[in-house]
Amino acid sequence: MGDRRPLITGNWKMHKTASATRTLLTQLGKQLHGVGGVDVTVAPPFTALGAAAETLAGGGIGLGAQNMHPAEEGAFTGEISAVMLVDLGVQFVLVGHSERRAIFGESDELVGRKLRTALAHDLIPYLCCGETREQRESGDTEPVIERQLRAALQGLPRQRAGDIVVAYEPVWAIGTGLTASPEQAQNAHAFIRGLLADLLGPENAARIRIQYGGSVKPGNAAELLSERDIDGALIGGASLDADSFAGIIRAVAR
Ligand code: PEP
Repeated sequence: MGDRRPLITGNWKMHKTASATRTLLTQLGKQLHGVGGVDVTVAPPFTALGAAAETLAGGGIGLGAQNMHPAEEGAFTGEISAVMLVDLGVQFVLVGHSERRAIFGESDELVGRKLRTALAHDLIPYLCCGETREQRESGDTEPVIERQLRAALQGLPRQRAGDIVVAYEPVWAIGTGLTASPEQAQNAHAFIRGLLADLLGPENAARIRIQYGGSVKPGNAAELLSERDIDGALIGGASLDADSFAGIIRAVAR
């Protein structure tokens, strides 16, 4: 890790009601009392964002959404816009999570539109990328990441680019208990940083935090984050419980 402050994010996926959200965030707030040198953010489901915003008000944990529609408003039944998220006090949004790509058919082009809409509304996009097991085994890890990042970041104004977050999440490590080794993750992160320098300039590339995601737990977080280009973690399963999420945060706090 360079000078970038570690960023630990919980992606709760389709878990937690509004009342369970209040309980979890209250427990987390207590456990993190006095812990510093790390940024913590959470992405509850849409239905719990209001409750989360109330519970987190005035505290140090940032709030995000897991998805958003790229249009400002319109006839998009069931969708949520950037304006609606900002109105609730949301500060960031995940774009291009592998579950959105694989289960909901999101294309690289759609991910890019979401990213640009997020920035236009001052929501920080956390751009997720990563290869499947088949792609890794056939030696396509780097071309896949490159395609995903180029499509999403092409034409992004450089003055906005330092604000984004990138999450490298090898699909084979998500929710499987398999974690990329620190070396595998560092190699991918270094490749991503080089690509960011090409696309957005070296200053932005040096500023942008690149999170690792895929079965991060209290026991493996510190080792992963000790790598030079691993600046944080995006956490699914282990973020649903205050003890394990706080355990990860404490393990990487400076
Ligand atoms: C994720 O889906 O973003 C993720 C990293 O999940 P898990 O931590 O459960 O592997």
